[in-house]
Amino acid sequence: MNIVEVRLTPVAFADPPLLNAAGVHEPWALRTIVEVDCGDGLVGLGETYGDLPHIELLRRVAPLVVGVDPFATSRILEIVRAELGATDAPDRHGLTGVSTPEKTALRVFSPIEVACLDLQGQLTGRPVHDLLGGAVRDAVPFSAYLFYKYAAHPGAGSDPFGEALTPDQIVAQARTLIDRYGFGSIKLKGGAFPPDQELDAMRALRDAYPELPLRIDPNAAWTVETSQRVAREMVGILEYLEDPTPGLAGMAAVADVARELGMPLATNMCVVAFEHLPEAIARDSVQVVLSDHHYWGGLRQSARLAGICQTWGIGLSMHSNSHLGISLAAMTHLGAALPELTYAADTHTPWQLGADVVESPLPIVDGAVRVPTTPGLGVTLDRDALARMHEDYVKCGLTERNDAGYMRTFVPDFEDVRPRW
Ligand SMILES: [Mg+2]
Repeated sequence: MNIVEVRLTPVAFADPPLLNAAGVHEPWALRTIVEVDCGDGLVGLGETYGDLPHIELLRRVAPLVVGVDPFATSRILEIVRAELGATDAPDRHGLTGVSTPEKTALRVFSPIEVACLDLQGQLTGRPVHDLLGGAVRDAVPFSAYLFYKYAAHPGAGSDPFGEALTPDQIVAQARTLIDRYGFGSIKLKGGAFPPDQELDAMRALRDAYPELPLRIDPNAAWTVETSQRVAREMVGILEYLEDPTPGLAGMAAVADVARELGMPLATNMCVVAFEHLPEAIARDSVQVVLSDHHYWGGLRQSARLAGICQTWGIGLSMHSNSHLGISLAAMTHLGAALPELTYAADTHTPWQLGADVVESPLPIVDGAVRVPTTPGLGVTLDRDALARMHEDYVKCGLTERNDAGYMRTFVPDFEDVRPRW
């Protein structure tokens, strides 16, 4: 049973105007659905970024894995590395730090690996988490991921979430998400407004939810000095401070202060490839790494990252970009199989407003996704939805994410400058 075809389908789904340090989300988020087909109706599913430069790399690799056994993922990784060589394609899909040739290869390999694991699970009758060592938990906790946001995209009606620009509106957003999904921890995407304004929102969240762990992620929008001040002011409020400032040296300088305060620093920007780990460990720049199988190279490479973190006493959390139900299933299987995952994972799922390419998306109940026990990933492609969402991709005309450019429709002189404050 070998791979006979790899199909790539770019899709788009509506995305609310969510703010971050780089600008604001455009009306459409892009993803690519990857189907690894072994014939006889046997298809494995993967999901990855939808920016065109990434799709072009996937298109180069897809025909090269035809004829390969879906259990031979190490060989597939070698094929991807050999084809892409020194290709270093910058990330055009979100705030996931610098790129390197190895990170580029792992990013292209990832959805194929996930699809192969889905196939392996179907062929062996086992859920994907069983292929990763088995589940250590029955449900994987996710956090309420709050965003500053405008009420609506220009010319569109307000979305169900409405405006969130003040501390009261951020607390109301938390209430909406927690009431609906039962989340047991809260993350605020910061870096959109001056830090003191965002600290007011964090204090309002702490007052509203004194029992819940809180995090803020300004995506490197703050200087070292600002980050050190924020760390002092947020003692006792944050479970971790995520990417306050750019770079391993800057983070190490903040960590010197944060360590005394007992506040871990987390990252999905300055440690985003295995080659970043030695310097990060030597400098003690970060105490928590947010894994993300989409750029760490799939589920097994993410488990390898977890092992390195465990060896060096670094905590493990999980990062998210706008995504659909195949990614949520993959994140859930991975989270189930990693004893090292001690924090609730991030997810953008509530912001999709129900749009999905799978027939029955895994639900978030009591702040967690129950780990599927059916063979493979445990999700089925909804081919009508896939066709519809591909049409939306073609119609929307976007080919890569550009939060800064879109921000200029709201703030004409906006520049993505970091650190800003
Ligand atoms: Mg982050």
